[in-house]
Amino acid sequence: MNTIRSVRGMHDILPADSPLWQWLENQLAQIFAAYDFHEIRLPLVEQAEVFMRAIGQATDVVEKEMYAFEDRNGDMLSLRPEGTAGVVRAAIQHGLLQSPGLKVWYQGPMFRHERPQKGRQRQFHQFGAEVFGLEQAAADAELIAMVERIWRTLGLRDKIRLEINSLGDRADRARYRQLLIDYLKPHVHRLDADSQRRLETNPLRIFDSKNPDTKALMADAPRLFDALGESARVHFDQVCHLLEQLGIQYQINPGLVRGLDYYCRTVFEWITDDLGAQGTVCAGGRYDELVAMQGGKDTPGIGFALGVERVLALLSAGGMEQVQVPQVYLVSQVEIGEALKLAEQLREAHPGLRVGMSLAGGSFKAQFKRADRSGAPLALVLGEAELAAGVVQVKNLRSDSAQQDSVPIAQLAEHLARLLAASGEH
Ligand code: ATP
Ligand code: MG
Repeated sequence: MNTIRSVRGMHDILPADSPLWQWLENQLAQIFAAYDFHEIRLPLVEQAEVFMRAIGQATDVVEKEMYAFEDRNGDMLSLRPEGTAGVVRAAIQHGLLQSPGLKVWYQGPMFRHERPQKGRQRQFHQFGAEVFGLEQAAADAELIAMVERIWRTLGLRDKIRLEINSLGDRADRARYRQLLIDYLKPHVHRLDADSQRRLETNPLRIFDSKNPDTKALMADAPRLFDALGESARVHFDQVCHLLEQLGIQYQINPGLVRGLDYYCRTVFEWITDDLGAQGTVCAGGRYDELVAMQGGKDTPGIGFALGVERVLALLSAGGMEQVQVPQVYLVSQVEIGEALKLAEQLREAHPGLRVGMSLAGGSFKAQFKRADRSGAPLALVLGEAELAAGVVQVKNLRSDSAQQDSVPIAQLAEHLARLLAASGEH
């Protein structure tokens, strides 16, 4: 029979890899807390409408990538392709927007039916954060500063650069849209098929095209950045000024448009050159009209999403590895119930202690082999003689010395705490 495999582009996270994931998750949770963000956990499935309204019909995500299906009742549902639309749906539904300044973060899998390749999966993971009710440039600056802190904490500061742009306000984009159409109309034959279609539906999206001919044409197009209205311009200048005050380096990229329709004003991407074509590790921007579009009362918002797999790829490229091995490994030649009892006693007396043991039994020699393979620095040896005397032998597995210390079981937890602290094992 054929063995069953996981769905293409959807990957298992194996025990060998999960410590690095957990480490990253803890680091990020701490940073979010330091900025007074609170976690929100949302369903992976929403009404398809949630994303179609928010992200926009004429975008890659909705047109080509979203997993949408009819459930048994005939409701149109979607696996979430991103986090923001669901956060907005929940914030409206639960009245979280009544007072301004809601700050939330989320994490978890997202689903997009894209061509799987390096740095691009069909189930991937994001961390994201959103701020509501604040139109001030300070909200943009604080959010960007938080992401900068993430890079510094992870040791990735030198590998990632920040690009920012402004998409202006609705009226700016409407005015610009016409400018862009007028520029592109005479060259329509040089546009790829998707872009020709989007010329009418969503011309700004054409900046996202990967087609070389289209890209060349777009390089000379009039720029939205030059068509900003007064208030969007002032907002953008304030953001830039705050970033400078905070010592945050950035480049203005007038071609940066982002792939989702809900953005306005400030947009940003953090990009690396170390991951080939899939170089954007984190991206986001303002979405001052999204809450109203989703049926809530007019509330500005701003947020970002960070691609976990890409960040982990950068960390691994830098040799970062988190291994989590047992701190002690119990080998025994007594009735297995006695060995289990001792392990329980240790866990009770020393919460957090990582205790491995040989449940399969066998000779001391076979068990010591397993102890070695586990990576644990210390072995605890429990034979009939030790059990009778109420002691265990403690053996250092990382030294060649055959020395074993006999330690009374009552003092074992304390003894181990001292040994592990001395060897820097926590
Ligand atoms: P890209 O230009 O790479 O397609 P995007 O603009 O579609 O990215 P966003 O929707 O802004 O991406 O998502 C934010 C981040 O999530 C991206 O910067 C990236 O790190 C990550 N990401 C997006 N799509 C995928 C995917 N299919 N596989 C892995 N990571 C992804
Ligand atoms: Mg994409």
